[in-house]
Amino acid sequence: MYDYDLLVIGAGSGGVRAARMAAGFGARVAVIEDRYLGGTCVNVGCVPKKLYVYASEYSAHFDDAEGFGWSAGTALFDWATLRDNKKTEIARLNGIYRRLLENAGCTVIDGRASLRDPHTVTVNDQFLSAEKILIATGGWPSIPDIPGREHLLSSNEIFDLPRFPERVLVIGGGYIAVEFASIFAGLGADTVQLYRGPLFLRGFDDDIRRHVAREMPKKGLDLRFNLNVQAVAQRADGSFAATLTDGSVLETDAILCATGRKPHLAGLGLEHTRVRYTDSGAIAVDETFRTAEPSIYALGDVTGGMELTPLALAEGMAFARREFGGLDAAVDYDNIPTAVFCQPPIGTVGLTEAQARARYDDIVIFKSEFRPMKHTISGRDERTLMKLVVQRSTDKVLGAHMAGADAGEIIQGIAIALRAGATKAVFDSTIGIHPTAAEEFVTMREPVPGG
Ligand code: FAD
Repeated sequence: MYDYDLLVIGAGSGGVRAARMAAGFGARVAVIEDRYLGGTCVNVGCVPKKLYVYASEYSAHFDDAEGFGWSAGTALFDWATLRDNKKTEIARLNGIYRRLLENAGCTVIDGRASLRDPHTVTVNDQFLSAEKILIATGGWPSIPDIPGREHLLSSNEIFDLPRFPERVLVIGGGYIAVEFASIFAGLGADTVQLYRGPLFLRGFDDDIRRHVAREMPKKGLDLRFNLNVQAVAQRADGSFAATLTDGSVLETDAILCATGRKPHLAGLGLEHTRVRYTDSGAIAVDETFRTAEPSIYALGDVTGGMELTPLALAEGMAFARREFGGLDAAVDYDNIPTAVFCQPPIGTVGLTEAQARARYDDIVIFKSEFRPMKHTISGRDERTLMKLVVQRSTDKVLGAHMAGADAGEIIQGIAIALRAGATKAVFDSTIGIHPTAAEEFVTMREPVPGG
């Protein structure tokens, strides 16, 4: 009756996973993608960003090496090499994604999809029908409507700049903004980051936010809070003049606007369906990813959740298992670990201190702040912060937070302990790995006084 059992719109993290698994269960699946296979994560998100983070860390490594006896001469950075090597790697990944889909038996259609009715999609002037349609179209950068907005770059463009900007202005206080501010500062640009509120990284633990705000400027970043951009004008020499809310004017060569993302719904034709939206404009779904239109499902960033690739993957798997594998699959949204790859990086899982105190009245806090061993000899003034949020009555560790080298790598392991319901006693009885920073997580004996 239908051309396909499942039509997936969007070959990003969630769409590809759902398509491959559904095909594995025997469904006839087509995936429609209009830009790049692998979606945001592979093309303009996690992957290129992490490659640029690695690039940006070398400047500090070169400096730190001297204390250990190395002299490497003058370090020079070439943007074109980084950018073009990144492009090659992403092209390789695009090819892998196409092969993964095709080998799983999915039909890959290059084009922009638009819904015509609850079972029909048009793409490249073709009509395709399916019993079920999955919308996995992700998010899109949202740029404020200020004079000169056409001069603002989003994270979609920043990776492929033709020339390295000597001066960079980053607007925003979310994780994408702090990551790019750290990247450009590390690569050697004079970098200013502006955030309109009193402290960036809203939603993260307050101690971690304050710690990172103290540490990031030590690597040359000019961090300014309670400030925003009102207007941008281009100068004759190609540079930009940003007028700030305090009336001052900031000159720069590139402006990255990382002030948020919104669900990618443009031209999707949802008006031909009964799909409904959340208050924030995302597609509203139930716990099985079904929209208000019974044949249409949605998952990943387009549904306005935590906007993380592993979550989109988990949702894609749960969807395919339930709808095509006959399995009762659900996603557990508790204790989702995450990292911010700023410098120093953040790793976090579970409740922040503020969230825990709002929920329970018997919270104790354990904290350790120290200079990492490496910097006793490198001479770098950098400090690491680790923090555990514990409920006194149950002894359960409700949250673990860290800002310091390898935070993402360390917190991934701690997240397993939290999901297993580990108590502080379990942390305390775990033997440390010496000498590491991670061992601090099992040697914090004294709670913060009064906490
Ligand atoms: P996406 O991966 O965005 O895929 C959606 C796809 O749908 C896109 O390829 C798009 O072209 C396509 N599409 C849209 N509309 C149509 C249409 N009408 N027809 C056909 N195709 C369409 N997450 C992490 O976990 N870790 C990180 O370190 C991290 N870093 C990030 C850094 C940046 C700069 C950004 C922007 C995001 C980052 N994320 C990170 C978030 C992560 O990329 C997303 O959460 C994830 O990609 C969401 O997957 P998705 O399947 O919902 O959508």
